[in-house]
Amino acid sequence: MQADEWSTPLAWNRVHRFRQRVLAVPRGLEAVPKVTGSVLPRGFGHSYGDSCLNAGNTLLDTRRLNRILSFDPQTGVLHCEAGVTIDAVQRYAAPYGWRLAVSPSTGLASVAGCVAHDVHGRNHVMAGSFGHHLLAVELMRSDGYHGVCGPGEDEQLFRATVGGMGLTGLITTVKLQLRPVKSSFIDVETHQHTELSALMAHIEASADSHEHATAWLDLTSRRAFRGVLEIGNDAVGGGSFSPSRFRPRMPFDLPRWCVGRPHAQAFNAAYFWLQGRRRPGRVSYQKYLYQMDSLGDWNRLLGPKGFYQYHFLIPAAAVNDGLPRLLEAVRRSDNVVVLAILKRYGPAPAPGMMSFPVRGLGGAFDFVHRGERTTRLFRELDELMIELGGRVYLAKDSTLSPGAFSSMYPQWTDFRAYVDPGFSSSLWRRVTGEEP
Ligand SMILES: Cc1cc2nc3c(=O)[nH]c(=O)nc-3n(C[C@H](O)[C@H](O)[C@H](O)COP(=O)(O)OP(=O)(O)OC[C@H]3O[C@@H](n4cnc5c(N)ncnc54)[C@H](O)[C@@H]3O)c2cc1C
Repeated sequence: MQADEWSTPLAWNRVHRFRQRVLAVPRGLEAVPKVTGSVLPRGFGHSYGDSCLNAGNTLLDTRRLNRILSFDPQTGVLHCEAGVTIDAVQRYAAPYGWRLAVSPSTGLASVAGCVAHDVHGRNHVMAGSFGHHLLAVELMRSDGYHGVCGPGEDEQLFRATVGGMGLTGLITTVKLQLRPVKSSFIDVETHQHTELSALMAHIEASADSHEHATAWLDLTSRRAFRGVLEIGNDAVGGGSFSPSRFRPRMPFDLPRWCVGRPHAQAFNAAYFWLQGRRRPGRVSYQKYLYQMDSLGDWNRLLGPKGFYQYHFLIPAAAVNDGLPRLLEAVRRSDNVVVLAILKRYGPAPAPGMMSFPVRGLGGAFDFVHRGERTTRLFRELDELMIELGGRVYLAKDSTLSPGAFSSMYPQWTDFRAYVDPGFSSSLWRRVTGEEP
């Protein structure tokens, strides 16, 4: 291990400012060092909250573990190191007619980060989550264990590691089953809606016919409802394309006075107007899946204090009652939601003990950071989620209390047995109160 300076690495929401010691894991992969306090593996810090932070302790930066070790174009089995990005896997496999079966909406996450949160995409109903497509995960633990777990091999450790938030050990390599595709394109159509019930019915009706689906809601207006459903299927033709590497970056934090309701309203109105002009068409997987990556560091658009995302999931049976109540609570609270997305989740049994998805409807709402006013609302929403049998996604969380966490993830007491005693995170200490 190579010692670097103490620094203040951020999570994607840029809210927490914790000093942490960062050790870069070298390609040679020496054993996890004995360090004072706890360690936490870290990929690209694209988790929104403190699951990728370890305040006052050590982060193991895995970005140098970036080699694709093997790929079989006949079977679509890819073996890579932990720090390889989702984007790198897609670029590598596309010319052979393969793609990741499940991807988050960013290509800039590491493969191990996607294992550790068992991430999901816009196609959860048909494809399940990231963990469903894993063949093997190689793990190093602080007691000297260095082995492989997977379906049919050390299965309980595997189930703990998928969605295990980096707490079961350092993932060093991952073996994945990719899926065959006929082109690099996705056929996409958008539908505007001015009533929530019509939008919900449309999402439901498209579940069998369209693999990919997301709905955008404008929550900046207190009057009329505005939403857009975007649905798509893999294209059959269109061939392959060369993904662009050009990516402008947001060079500075937008000043605080620019981050408020008027600006959020203008952004959402423009989005609705633009979507109304879109015709059904064929777009590259890169443009479709990774739209948000087209502006690097876009999180700086939400101002110098950072922002909060509330990413919730309401089980299917409670959606009709729960979603309008949640939207009403948000409206009443006088908080500003810049971006609100809904996704549906399918029935596949979760591959990880701490996996987020269950069958139902989820939403990811980006809130302007208004301090106590925002966190007070989140506490209210947490109570509603608990009443509905829902939960909050730990990859995006910054505020869950230990009580709310235990209610949403009661299985954590079983999971705890697999946590490496040398590992911890800011999130884990916050939601369990447990010190390593
Ligand atoms: C724009 C954007 C869109 C997103 N869209 C989605 C989405 O659609 N669906 C979704 O599910 N998520 C989504 N996410 C969340 C993101 O996919 C996850 O948070 C993912 O874990 C980030 O990967 P990372 O490499 O940045 O990991 P980090 O954020 O650095 O770490 C995440 C977790 O992985 C663990 N970890 C990292 N590397 C290792 C390793 N080598 N061994 C063991 N544990 C490790 C860390 O300890 C931590 O607990 C999105 C994030 C962004 C910024």
